Amino acid sequence: MVQLNDNYLKLKAGYLFPEIARRVKAFCSANPEAAARVIRCGIGDVTEPLPPAVIAAMHKAVDDMAARETFRGYGPEQGHEFLRHAIAQNDYRDHGLDVADDEIFVSDGSKCDCGNILDILGHGNRLGITDPVYPVYVDTNVMAGHTGEANEAGAYAGIHYLPCDAANGFVPEVPTEKLDVIYLCFPNNPTGATASRAQLTAWVEYARSHQALILFDAAYEAYISDPAVPHSIYEIPGARECAIEFRSFSKNGGFTGTRCAFTVVPKTLLAATATGGRLPLHPLWNRRMSTKFNGVSYIVQRGVEALYTPEGKQQVRGLIDHYMGNAAILRTAAQKAGLPVFGGVNAPYIWVATPDGFTSWEMFDRMLCLANVVITPGSGFGSKGEGYFRISAFNSRANAEEFARRIAAL
Ligand SMILES: *Cc1c(COP(=O)(O)O)cnc(C)c1O
Repeated sequence: MVQLNDNYLKLKAGYLFPEIARRVKAFCSANPEAAARVIRCGIGDVTEPLPPAVIAAMHKAVDDMAARETFRGYGPEQGHEFLRHAIAQNDYRDHGLDVADDEIFVSDGSKCDCGNILDILGHGNRLGITDPVYPVYVDTNVMAGHTGEANEAGAYAGIHYLPCDAANGFVPEVPTEKLDVIYLCFPNNPTGATASRAQLTAWVEYARSHQALILFDAAYEAYISDPAVPHSIYEIPGARECAIEFRSFSKNGGFTGTRCAFTVVPKTLLAATATGGRLPLHPLWNRRMSTKFNGVSYIVQRGVEALYTPEGKQQVRGLIDHYMGNAAILRTAAQKAGLPVFGGVNAPYIWVATPDGFTSWEMFDRMLCLANVVITPGSGFGSKGEGYFRISAFNSRANAEEFARRIAAL
């Protein structure tokens, strides 16, 4: 009989967002009069429409598809040259960072990239993953058979968890153990924390001394306002020898539904072969994309290209300012309610400690019933997230203000 992938059976049931949706639905059917009042600050999805520069470029790209002379079929699997160039130039070389056009691989999302990257890595790597964490890093390793079973707290055997709490400012210390693959995400989802240049330097030095790989998720880099905070791992000397960077257009340009992201794989990044040789990862990722991917839609890539025009950049700034304006309102409201508040300054997430010993899910139910607001329970991001909840700034201004009023009234 056909065999299934048993690793999937190790996955913890009740994935966070379906469980949130279930509880909200149950609350709304039990309280129909309150249903219309519910404000959702749970899921990290953008709310504002695509920038006008993107819309205009995509309309034009649709017209390209309508004429034989300008029609495009299959594009390069790695992304169109016009976009790889715009990314490498604007996001890296204009900031003095050495990244070549052909080190950029355009994709349909960072979530996909974070999972797909495992295709080019071996199975015996010792994994370092932060706790709390974006669940994709953990679950994709479980699916790939890189872990044992989970314990009651949800921690998998075979993963070295890097605890992030108020004591370390939600930035993990470099461990004494030898790890091979380390996932770092800054600005962080869910905690909203950023890593300083000194902290990232310590991680790059650790990775270089152990010949380890850092998978650096910079999905929220556009939200950094503090000029001292690095936007890219490649701002740290030596990172081209030890790091892959993931970036996405989901949170800066609002492409969560339109889908586009990219991965940077420096040609100078080496990994060990089974026989002890050392080879670059770049050709493997190139091969992986060529074999399993057929590129992002031409229309979408033209839309993303427009984010790099002067109007596009200004419009992205407008979007970020809108969400960070919400973040300031929500942050202040939680502080005024007397709660210990983290994040929300260089990231669109506010990370709040629950009061009076409430668990994360107890706080979720309380906020839903008493204030009709949806937050994300911290424990859904890992055992160290217990005792916290996340407020997302992705919302309309009116909803953020109403959310703030309701917290104040609690
Ligand atoms: C939203 C998000 C992404 C982006 O994912 P896409 O698939 O590009 O939409 C990546 N990493 C983290 C941590 C995120 O929160």
